[in-house]
Amino acid sequence: METKFWEVKKNPEAAIAEAAGLIAAGEVVAFPTETVYGLGADGLNAEAVAKIFAAKGRPADNPLILHIADTEQIYPLTSGLNANARALMDTFWPGPLTIVVPRSELVPDIVTAGLDTVAIRMPSHPVAAALIRAAGCPVAAPSANVSGKPSPTNAKDVADDMTGKVAGILDGGSCGIGVESTVVDTTSPVPTILRPGGITREMLEERLGR
Ligand code: AMP
Ligand code: MG
Repeated sequence: METKFWEVKKNPEAAIAEAAGLIAAGEVVAFPTETVYGLGADGLNAEAVAKIFAAKGRPADNPLILHIADTEQIYPLTSGLNANARALMDTFWPGPLTIVVPRSELVPDIVTAGLDTVAIRMPSHPVAAALIRAAGCPVAAPSANVSGKPSPTNAKDVADDMTGKVAGILDGGSCGIGVESTVVDTTSPVPTILRPGGITREMLEERLGR
């Protein structure tokens, strides 16, 4: 497969429009976020999401995070948000926090690995936000590395792993944090950190209590 490579700063509008067009058409595009580079596809298109698993060699039992650009985008994806989920969204979005919430029927099984919950995040990186908005769909995205390798924080490392395997790579420079998003399950009686990351336990406890 031919892999397009866009240097975003040369022509941001054209790069993002082309990349978003490929995502809307069911292809996979790598893009920068404030944590690490992600490998994105239309999160409501099961065939498109399958291409992410193929490109990474990711086991099918490891669910993906859906990335959104506006708070309202979460509502069709969930059967309901509790007070903890709403407090975390209000405080930490956009930013490096992923929340696990009850899924809706709209979310394909391949995204959640068959779980009855779905992981959702709103990235703060301007290129990620613009791409998701232009694609017009939630974007399913794991880190843009081959499974088992370190998560990439620049486009060169993404290209080393993904050239020939994805439709395009958006080079938006180096990622700010280089640490993955914190994943919090809001569906358990006490909110639970499933993966530590950019938002610390102290920051979460300050907002939610223990
Ligand atoms: P990655 O996209 O590779 O950075 O990893 C995404 C992380 O989110 C993994 O640790 C997944 O296990 C976790 N995750 C995604 N969806 C869910 C879910 N529905 N429930 C619990 N954890 C999830
Ligand atoms: Mg990863």
